[in-house]
Formats: sequence, C-alpha cells, structure tokens
Amino acid sequence: MSKIQVLDPITIDKIAAGEVIERPASVVKELVENAIDAGATAVVVEIKDGGISFMRITDNGCGIDREDVRSAFLRHSTSKIRSVDDLLHIGSLGFRGEALSSISAVAQVELITKTKDQTFGTLYRIAGGKEETLEDTGAPDGTTFIIRQLFYNTPARRKFLKTPMTEASHVGDLMTRLALSHPHISFQFINNGQSKLHTSGNGKLKDVIYHIYGREIASNLLQAEYDTPGLKITGFLGKPIISRGNRNFENYYVNGRYARNSIISRAIEDAYKDFTMQHKYPFVVLHIEIDGEHVDVNVHPTKMELRFNNQQEVYNAIYSAVDQGLHEKELIPHVEMPEPKPAVQSTPESKPAVRSTPESKPAVRS
Ligand code: ADP
Ligand code: MG
Repeated sequence: MSKIQVLDPITIDKIAAGEVIERPASVVKELVENAIDAGATAVVVEIKDGGISFMRITDNGCGIDREDVRSAFLRHSTSKIRSVDDLLHIGSLGFRGEALSSISAVAQVELITKTKDQTFGTLYRIAGGKEETLEDTGAPDGTTFIIRQLFYNTPARRKFLKTPMTEASHVGDLMTRLALSHPHISFQFINNGQSKLHTSGNGKLKDVIYHIYGREIASNLLQAEYDTPGLKITGFLGKPIISRGNRNFENYYVNGRYARNSIISRAIEDAYKDFTMQHKYPFVVLHIEIDGEHVDVNVHPTKMELRFNNQQEVYNAIYSAVDQGLHEKELIPHVEMPEPKPAVQSTPESKPAVRSTPESKPAVRS
C-alpha cells in the first residue's frame, strides 16, 4: 500500500464532476436551470458537434455581481440556500452549488455576465478548475456561458460520449422538457446553426405542445385541473386516440422539474386503463405542484427521481385528476340511439346516457 494522501481540490472537483456532468446535455441542464433560477424570461442554447466542442447558453436573468463571480465556481457555493432547513422550502431548481465547479473542472469555460446595477459586465475564463481571466467587458444584462471541449482533460470520460448526433438529440429532448415545464419562458435551441425549437414564452402550455408535437396532438387534448390542499395539478391529457406505443410521451413536472416516478406513472396509466388498449401509453403533459415538505428532491445529484412521504395521497390525487379530465362529457362516445319507447314517460333530463350512472336512470313517475 502506498501512503495515504488527501486529494488536491482539482482532483476532488474532477471526481465530483463525474456525478453531475455525464454528457453535454447535463451541462445544458445545469446552466439552463441556473438561468431559470436567475429569473430569465428568455434562454438561448446553441451547440455544435453535439455540444462536445461548443455550447453557448445565454439568458436575460439577473446576472452575477463581479464580486461573486469567483465564488460562484467554488464547490458548494450557492446563493439559493443557507442551511439544511431551507431544503424543505426550496423553490429553485438548483441548490447544491456543484454545477459551476463541476463544469469548470472538466471543460474550458467562458462567462460573460452583467447585473442591472453594474455599468460594465464581467468576462471570466476558467479551464480545468484554473482561473485564466477576470476583466471588464461590454455586455447586455444577463449571463452567457460558453463551454468548449467538454472532458478535454478527462479522456476516459470523453470516450464514453456517443456520436455528436446522439448527444445533440439528448440536448434536444432536454430542451423540449424545459420548454414544456416553463411555458412562461421563451426557449430557443440552435444545433449546428439551425434553429430546432423556439417557443414564445407566452405562458400558454397548449401553444408549447402545439409547437413541439404539432397539430394532430394539440387538437386532441383535454384539460386537467385538480386542486386539493398541498397538491395542485394542471395540464393536458391526450385523448385515447393519440395514445403512443411507449412511455416517452408521459410528461410530468413536479414543482417545475421534469420527473420520472413510478407512483405518478402508475396513477396516470391506471386512470387511462378503461380508455386505452393494452401496450398503449397515454400522451400527457401535467404540472404537479406539491408542498415542499412532501417531496424529497435531494435523492440524486441529477434530481430526476423523486420521493414522496405521502405516496398514497399523491397517487389518489393524480388518479382523480386524470380520471376527472377523461370523464369530461366530450370524451364519452356519442352514440345515436333510437328513441326508446318508454313504458312510462321520462323527463328530458333523465334520458339514458350511453354511460349511465345511477342518477341518470330514467325515473319512473308514479
Ligand atoms: P446552484 O445552482 O446549486 O446554486 P451552481 O454551481 O449551479 O449552484 O451556481 C452557483 C451560483 O452561481 C448560483 O447559486 C447563482 O448565484 C450563480 N449563477 C449561476 N448561473 C447563473 C446565471 N445564469 N444567472 C445568475 N446567477 C447565476
Ligand atoms: Mg445550479
């Protein structure tokens, strides 16, 4: 055995970076989430070569003060929480303070940022964890990150990257999810000089769905709306005729975050059961707001998995939201029935519906 040594900070950051930064899409995710947390109303993401050689993320958010720029790149530096207690009420997407330190450990980073109150912007360059430049620059309000040569100093990791086309499609999927989860923000995604996505940010979820999935899907949606203490659901449910062959179109966002969760998926699919064929999965875009106390978002650095402390309630609420949305009258197939010749006269309100509920049984007048 050789002598035990404490790792130097750059090595520690490189190792930590492995947990957060797996591929270009993870960099884009972290930087766009920072832009959203910074209050941006417009975010532009441009990549070349699948993002491996070049990524630029520009936002019109609050910017970073010159005096905070250096510390923003330190590990566990964050402006979003101060103590563990804050975790319960976290409203921001990030809070671990790891993204910038991780990204700058494994790539060449250029940051241009300006706050409203500053006359000059700041240009900061850092590569492989080493600061290169900190100087004045002219800049609009907001922040631009340029990331070049991802994993240039960790060749083993670079080898795990897929082709530029595959990496670009991961970024594209991510941009789709970001746009669907934040209809109030305008997102543009440019891949190799071509604009692939550009949402208006007008706040209308249906417009975003139309933009991404097209007319056929957008014109076959039912609204979902459900409100119960501690939990609120809004969004759209695809009519069963646009059901899909896989789960990729089950989009749901918990407190603004894209999430995969077996309880939520099951509740959605169970509610659709009577309407869809086997091996078909619904199209949904649901925004679920749950009181911070009931969700654990700190399960994994990439925060895709969520844990709830009141699983049954979450299941019931989501099931009810979907079930109610699907049972809106327009979905119940309308079948022309020959006028029954009632033995007894029935009132107009009590015409038998196709799906008859106990209340709608023809009343018998005595
Ligand atoms: P976290 O998001 O977990 O706080 P990050 O490493 O992602 O940690 O970012 C560190 C800090 O840098 C943030 O807390 C924020 O104050 C600042 N920051 C990063 N990106 C932006 C941005 N686009 N606009 C404004 N501030 C930013
Ligand atoms: Mg962050």
